[in-house]
Amino acid sequence: MKIKISSLSEGRHLYDFEMPASEIELPIDFVGNVIVNVKLEKTKDQIFITSNLQCKKEFLCDRCSTNYEDDLKTSYNMFYVYDVAHRTEYDEDVVTVISKDTDIIDLSPDVKEYLLLAVPMKNVCGEDCKGLCPKCGQNLNLTQCDCEIEQIDPRWSELKKIFRN
Ligand SMILES: [Zn+2]
Ligand SMILES: [Zn+2]
Repeated sequence: MKIKISSLSEGRHLYDFEMPASEIELPIDFVGNVIVNVKLEKTKDQIFITSNLQCKKEFLCDRCSTNYEDDLKTSYNMFYVYDVAHRTEYDEDVVTVISKDTDIIDLSPDVKEYLLLAVPMKNVCGEDCKGLCPKCGQNLNLTQCDCEIEQIDPRWSELKKIFRN
């Protein structure tokens, strides 16, 4: 995911990249290709990019412990500045100092980092996932067990707590 900047004219440029997730050393649960759409704006002092990232990832459902695949999407901005003095103008997370001789910028490390950051903490295979039976452990999306479980609507259990106090 390299952009040759040395001979690039000032103004706006668009780039699209697509490559296997494994090629930028993402973990194996990132599957298929990473798609990157880049908007680049070059001025005499800096290069500003907005990258939209998309890839597929395998997740483990928190409720039913089943693997499922879902899209992971995120975006980030980066300022490539030619002069270290400009560095302080931006948040250090979004600025990279380059020199007038820099020939190529490689987006791969940032693409990898931002995709990893985009992985949510909580994962559910679907809003209606029924999860595992707390008694027998069967996946209730696939089967219905005969366990007797007191079904309490979570809203009611909250109310019960209030009444108890
Ligand atoms: Zn699930
Ligand atoms: Zn059960």
